[in-house]
Amino acid sequence: MTLMNESPASIKTVRKTRSVTINPPKMCQPMGAILAYMGVHGCVPLVHGSQGCSTYPRYNIARHFRESAEVAVSSLAEDAAVYGGAKNLTEAIKNVKSRLNPAAIGICTTCMSETIGDDVKLISKNALTPGDAMRIFPASTPSYVGTHLTGYDNALRTLVETLAVKGEPNNKINIITGIINPGDIREIKNMLRLMNVQSIFLSDISETLDTPILPGGHKPVLPDGGTSLSDIADSANSLGTLAICRSAGSAATSLMKKFNVPYAPDPAPIGVINTDRFVQNICKLSGAMIPDEIIKERGRLIDSLVDVHHYMYGKKVAIFGDPDLVSAIVRFCAEAGMNPTVAMTATKHKDFAPDIKAVNTEYKTDTQILEGTDLYEFHEVVKTHGAELILGNSKGKDIADDEGVPLVRFGFPVYDRVGVYRYSIMGYNGSIYLLDQMTNAILGHKYDPNKLHQ
Ligand code: SF4
Repeated sequence: MTLMNESPASIKTVRKTRSVTINPPKMCQPMGAILAYMGVHGCVPLVHGSQGCSTYPRYNIARHFRESAEVAVSSLAEDAAVYGGAKNLTEAIKNVKSRLNPAAIGICTTCMSETIGDDVKLISKNALTPGDAMRIFPASTPSYVGTHLTGYDNALRTLVETLAVKGEPNNKINIITGIINPGDIREIKNMLRLMNVQSIFLSDISETLDTPILPGGHKPVLPDGGTSLSDIADSANSLGTLAICRSAGSAATSLMKKFNVPYAPDPAPIGVINTDRFVQNICKLSGAMIPDEIIKERGRLIDSLVDVHHYMYGKKVAIFGDPDLVSAIVRFCAEAGMNPTVAMTATKHKDFAPDIKAVNTEYKTDTQILEGTDLYEFHEVVKTHGAELILGNSKGKDIADDEGVPLVRFGFPVYDRVGVYRYSIMGYNGSIYLLDQMTNAILGHKYDPNKLHQ
């Protein structure tokens, strides 16, 4: 069923050769596009497709972030398959405008509207009246290509390419987040604040998907927060761009090509080495010095690694999820002296295998690389290579149960625990939190007489 390809250094890349996918830990493009649009201030995502194409993302958002999400849909039905979806999309744009009066509407296409071949750009343009202040961003997100990460990347690139304009230098750094949690964004903002560096987050769900209830019980329909349209326009004038998730980096490439904004595509800042690299990049771009507080945070992470080394050394860990997070966590586990046996991602990315192979070479590990595959394949390889701990989203629960090992949840979606989105696994502080979660999961499992796992 599987093909194990020998590569130099005896590292194996496992490829799925089945013609069926079983339990894929990935979602369709509109899911990612909606998350990108939700990080923009006053922007309402509009799915040009059938009802279910918006219900399914909203369901996942509600379960993960415990927030209700305003996601509009053009409600295509059988007649649209014959006559096209222009009428529905035009009505949908008018309805969203009259009911919510947003600053912008972010459109994402679906399997159906892409197959029909609707000219979404033209329909959107025609739906606006002359002088209309509301902006419309039409992203092409066909769901039979790529995954939720492709959708995020396409929507963000659409936003940047539509809005970015050359102006005066702004002395800021663009931070492309990708699909990470509000807690992660807050931690990165905190690091930048300590370094006294100004930034533009592309995009920013730290408030829009973790919305406070204000005094008097007030919670606005369109949440506060998110990156303003003017800040996105100003991203062309920044000192440079750093991407937390390189899978969302095409907007950065576009800014580099069109406006000469430098782009440093480095791994996600999880663990010591990757966070060091992130901090060094900030210093290089901005000229900032590393403040004492950041040095202390790094020192606390090193101390945490020492504290738990005797629990974690040699522990087998299997990791699945989105490629940027998985490859960074694999490196962090190796830094902690653990033995990452399997690294799996459903979304292919050119940096994934090289990242893992670099860790294998540096730490003399033998992590199996599974790319573009599913949780069935992951489970098969876990059975043969072993795991005392699994890291991944909630979809890994059944595998953890079958193997009788704990599951530490990260990534998206996490629907069988609350609050995961509030905490960070990034930067020095976030890495300490992740390390503590892993250690406590192993300790809790070890001393649980019934071996009840989490
Ligand atoms: S895969 Fe296609 S049909 Fe299914 S929810 Fe996504 S866009 Fe809609």
